[in-house]
Amino acid sequence: MKNIRNFSIIAHIDHGKSTLSDRLIQFCEGLADREMKAQVLDSMDIERERGITIKAQSVTLNYKAKDGEIYQLNFIDTPGHVDFTYEVSRSLAACEGALLVVDAGQGVEAQTVANCYTAIEMNLEVRAILNKIDLPQADPDRVSEEIEDIIGIDAVGAVQCSAKTGIGIQDVLEDIVLHIPPPEGDLDKPLQALIIDSWFDPYQGVVSLVRVKHGSIRKGDKLKILSTGDSHQVDKVGIFTPKQTDTGILKAGEVGFIIAGIKEILGAPVGDTITLANNAAVEPLPGFQKIKPQVYAGLFPVSSDDYESFRDALGKLSLNDASLFYEPESSSALGLGFRCGFLGMLHMEIVQERLEREYDLDLITTAPTVNYEILTKDGTIHSIDSPSEMPAVNDIAEVREPICKADILVPQEYLGNVITLCMEKRGTQTAMSYHGKQVAVSYDLPMAEVVMDFFDRLKSTSRGFASLDYNFTRFQEADMVRVDILLNGERVDALAMICHRDFSQSRGRLLADKLKELIPRQMFDIAIQAVIGVHIIARTTVKQLRKNVIAKCYGGDISRKKKLLQKQKDGKKRMKQVGNVELPQDAFLAILKIG
Ligand code: GDP
Ligand code: MG
Repeated sequence: MKNIRNFSIIAHIDHGKSTLSDRLIQFCEGLADREMKAQVLDSMDIERERGITIKAQSVTLNYKAKDGEIYQLNFIDTPGHVDFTYEVSRSLAACEGALLVVDAGQGVEAQTVANCYTAIEMNLEVRAILNKIDLPQADPDRVSEEIEDIIGIDAVGAVQCSAKTGIGIQDVLEDIVLHIPPPEGDLDKPLQALIIDSWFDPYQGVVSLVRVKHGSIRKGDKLKILSTGDSHQVDKVGIFTPKQTDTGILKAGEVGFIIAGIKEILGAPVGDTITLANNAAVEPLPGFQKIKPQVYAGLFPVSSDDYESFRDALGKLSLNDASLFYEPESSSALGLGFRCGFLGMLHMEIVQERLEREYDLDLITTAPTVNYEILTKDGTIHSIDSPSEMPAVNDIAEVREPICKADILVPQEYLGNVITLCMEKRGTQTAMSYHGKQVAVSYDLPMAEVVMDFFDRLKSTSRGFASLDYNFTRFQEADMVRVDILLNGERVDALAMICHRDFSQSRGRLLADKLKELIPRQMFDIAIQAVIGVHIIARTTVKQLRKNVIAKCYGGDISRKKKLLQKQKDGKKRMKQVGNVELPQDAFLAILKIG
């Protein structure tokens, strides 16, 4: 065990984690050169297209160090985006150390700090790595100082490297071997293995990534899932090199996979402990904190025939993504679907995209909301995550909205813009400190404002230089109201929004206008009204369609006619009939576009 090193690579997004992983794999010859492609670990299509890492990935490599010994390195590449910090902390639970990769040109950013603190809290040895030293703007000395100043870990003598050109990669490996402690564990104790991640593979059933703490597990053993007490025969155990490779055994201190013919998707929950069926009285390992979603939205199949397969897909996806929450929801406008909870907007986009691509579903998403605590006059507190659950105005004694602490790092020249933005979003400043050319500023902000367009606004107002980390802190009383939308006098539940009273008039008006733009003209006039309770705050009309679109084509050009018809048909795919009005998907997300 003394030659095993388990570590994660953590960083702010784009600082080079995945590229560094590639280089480590290449250096240790985990893959032949012809198999090597950029960002091998980002195996999902979405990850490759978007150039971001979503799921944590593990790789086992053998490294022959300068001391002549061979070390088994198990490393886990983790996502860096703010929505996926949960994945990061899960990966860290399997490790003794972490490489904190910092872009030597860019310097410390918000997730550099947040991820590093998570690692420190979990008692990991954190090693700073200055990456991208090949860039002309790289300034490793300034960035080392920044790391010490803002984060407070030792960064003098931090390894410098370029994951792109390959400079310094061996130094990174030596640093790992010398400074990250080997795992502690007892091979003779009964098996205890922590499930770091589980996913459903159509050919192999449930695959679980585990960290073995004590004992060992072999092919053919009978394992027991501690929380459920269910037993399964182990079909395969092994490691990722990064290819899935059978080894027949996993021992204390190691990280690898177990396949045990588990077909039932909740059979191997993330954070659970695995032991052997004949082991009596084994303690469960500390699992993972169940995290609460921050954003909720309704997801509805465009065709109601897809409801069953949609439910099935959510079940499978949630095994792979423990942070995804869902429960059935029925909407008078959209029919049967699910209320889903997400960690943030990016998470929501990714889940919708995965459902559509991997499970071939057409879905309508309703506007996201946060959850509110509502105290009614009879003294009960209701937790609601959808505007339609809001009690009648006359019954409400108090509405409490979620507040988060937002930590922002921004170069001084953009500080003014950031402060203006935070004030516009009802923020209260709680701290500010200067670190060289960077300013660390903290705000208490309503979660509802942060999860919408805050991140994009922050980026554009700072030319991309400001970075953000946020965490829920508390519920706080706020004057929130529900704005309803009526189409031809009919309330459409899926278009309602909750917003602060100060913004309700202007947002109601903007929403009505936006809907007017988005709803295609139909054979009759469509009256759009925004109302609060019984008060109409905005009113506009989509005029009826006068001309037949096809009539414009003079009957001559057949291919053009066909194209037009095809276009209409494709558009229809995402249309939902609400009463007698046809609504496009965009209409349900109009709220996002009115900031
Ligand atoms: P991640 O989000 O932390 O996984 O970052 P990636 O590995 O995806 O890298 C983000 C971008 O930085 C990519 O375009 C990489 O090619 C680039 N990059 C990574 N390492 C280096 C480096 O050492 N030097 C330079 N010049 N670019 C790098
Ligand atoms: Mg990456």
